[in-house]
Amino acid sequence: MTVTVGSSREFSNLANTHPEWHEAIGSLFEEVVAIRRDLHKNPELSFQETRTAGIVSARLREWGYEVTENVGGTGVVGLLKSGVPGPVVGLRADMDALPMMDEIAADYRSQRDGAAHTCGHDAHTAILLGVAKLYSGKGLPCGTLKLIFQPAEEIGEGAAAMIADGALQNPKVDLMAGLHVHPTLHTGEFSVTTAEYSCAAVDIFELEVKGKGGHAAHPHQTVDPIMISAQILVALQQIVSRQVDPLDSVVLSFGQIEAGSKATIIPNSVLLKGTVRTLKPETRKEMPERMAAIASGIAQSFGGECELDYQFITPSIKIDGSARELLSDTISELYGEDALKISLPSMGGEDFAYFSQEVPSVFFRLGTKNGEATAFPNHNTRFDVDEQAFLYGISVLGLLTYNYLKKNEGEKG
Ligand SMILES: [Zn+2]
Ligand SMILES: [Zn+2]
Repeated sequence: MTVTVGSSREFSNLANTHPEWHEAIGSLFEEVVAIRRDLHKNPELSFQETRTAGIVSARLREWGYEVTENVGGTGVVGLLKSGVPGPVVGLRADMDALPMMDEIAADYRSQRDGAAHTCGHDAHTAILLGVAKLYSGKGLPCGTLKLIFQPAEEIGEGAAAMIADGALQNPKVDLMAGLHVHPTLHTGEFSVTTAEYSCAAVDIFELEVKGKGGHAAHPHQTVDPIMISAQILVALQQIVSRQVDPLDSVVLSFGQIEAGSKATIIPNSVLLKGTVRTLKPETRKEMPERMAAIASGIAQSFGGECELDYQFITPSIKIDGSARELLSDTISELYGEDALKISLPSMGGEDFAYFSQEVPSVFFRLGTKNGEATAFPNHNTRFDVDEQAFLYGISVLGLLTYNYLKKNEGEKG
């Protein structure tokens, strides 16, 4: 394996501005890349990350961390204490892969059929292990570092399971940070939103429209649920355009419609399935009621009825203002002000949200695009990352931790 460290100009500059960080991160880079490629070859689906968790645990132990395994299923928590009073910084990586094919050309392509690291969680795990090794050598200035390796992000369940299993307690975490690799940004670039919420709350719903079936040639003898559904589909979009503040964001999308068995039969019922995405919790809370009112009003006016089954799944990520400021200062300190881009919130979901509900948190994107091979979007069969970006991920998470601990030295312990 050939790995060139710090070929990019910005990381090389750290040799002048932060020589200690440059040397420490440069010397662990090759190992981190090897870990990432091994994980990439051996992807594991949500809640099945036993091999990955085993590798994480073994490395953490080797580097002097206290390790707790099987937290919330296959999750791992690593703890490093400085012995000097100070706060607790929590850093999170997700470990799961997606149930799809890996079609990258590299020799570290997935060796498992139907499982692939096409969201980059292999990179997240490797980067966080890089931070682990960095601090095992360097030591913390004060306080405690808690590394949280979570399972099952792709199904939105791993973070909640780890929290329920006590991952944020003993010791209690004071600041949480996490990142996601992103091919819309170049290596050496980062982005964070200035909004209060970063990724959307993800909810799903099923709306059953009930009518009265019959012959398609005699519609007057039926209550046609397909016709009613068509009007409900259109009317529900007006929650987004007429009932919600235009400066707030809501997405209401239908992904599945099930009805009927033949062109000449009006069915008894129609099932509409979809997803709702919101940023503000108060907007989210109102959605089921708004949808039910419109859908039943329309159904009843045509002699039908409907039932809404609305499931709240993942909440939105809440970004703490002072944590964002610290991130922004840290990135500027390392790579200059231009390295941090401002992004709009995403209406996609990310279950880091659960941590952000419990602890002041910051979540940011790490640029991983460097040429055609690394320009494919997340969840694409050809998704891959520029491994040079790990240098940036490790240095920013590392220095963010250092800066937070130094700033709050002696406050807890
Ligand atoms: Zn994903
Ligand atoms: Zn992801």
